[in-house]
Amino acid sequence: MRYFDLHCDTIGECSNNNLSLKNNSLHISLEKAEKISEYTQVFAVWIPDELRGKAAVKYFDKTADYFNKEIEKNKELISLYGSDENTPVKAILSVEGGSACGGTIEGLYHLFEKGVRLITLTWNAPNEIASGAFSKGGFTEFGKEFVRISEELGITLDVSHLNRQSFYEFAEISKKPFIASHSNANIVDNEFAKKRNLDDEQIRIIKNRDGLIGLNFCRDFIESEKSQGVDALYEQIKYMLSLGCEDTLAFGSDFDGCTIHKDLSGIEKMPDVYMALKDRGMDETILEKIFWKNAERFFLK
Ligand SMILES: [Zn+2]
Repeated sequence: MRYFDLHCDTIGECSNNNLSLKNNSLHISLEKAEKISEYTQVFAVWIPDELRGKAAVKYFDKTADYFNKEIEKNKELISLYGSDENTPVKAILSVEGGSACGGTIEGLYHLFEKGVRLITLTWNAPNEIASGAFSKGGFTEFGKEFVRISEELGITLDVSHLNRQSFYEFAEISKKPFIASHSNANIVDNEFAKKRNLDDEQIRIIKNRDGLIGLNFCRDFIESEKSQGVDALYEQIKYMLSLGCEDTLAFGSDFDGCTIHKDLSGIEKMPDVYMALKDRGMDETILEKIFWKNAERFFLK
């Protein structure tokens, strides 16, 4: 089975707790990934909202260095996406929180040089660029410049965690296709889900801009009293397909970044998830698009 995942927080967990990427008890390890024949994972360096300026840059550098060291240590198993290495796992480095640039354009170039190819513009609070899902406000002047230069560099921009105002401003400013790496449809009724999930209009804009939406497995964002685990994920997929998202949909599990139902919690579960969705009547052509084809097409471009 092939699998492409747009978001996880594994590398921060490894770096902060001095764990190996190859063998650990997290949602993702290279050993657990052995069940997947070809696997691409976006590894995000999550920047806590308490860190801004130089402190954010320092935290990013430390975590990115750990990531590169782990790749070097396990180079028979994992290599950077786009490199010529023939490994079962391919990795893309991202940051979750554009504050990793320290609020300067030089800092943005630094992220690019360190290998970052995808940027989630904010986490939940405001930063130098824009305002996140649990705060008010939109884009700053610096944020607009940040978007322009990121797109020139070929960095993929990610709207997951933006609040509504920031999202719609971003849709006006940006010129390239963009993604929501780990976001769901707004069909779950709780406070967190209402703020983080995407309205139909937002979903349509991402789809019309040839973007991607990676479904997040976080219990708070997909589950209700009526459906949990794979059933809840199935409801999300069905709803997205009803909005015409067959070529937009992917997964952004949020592994090692949130609480996930046991049937979905870990990279080694994905072959079973595929079968469980198929058993519920999901067409395999569509499943292949969601599991890897849509994301692969997007990143090859
Ligand atoms: Zn997140």
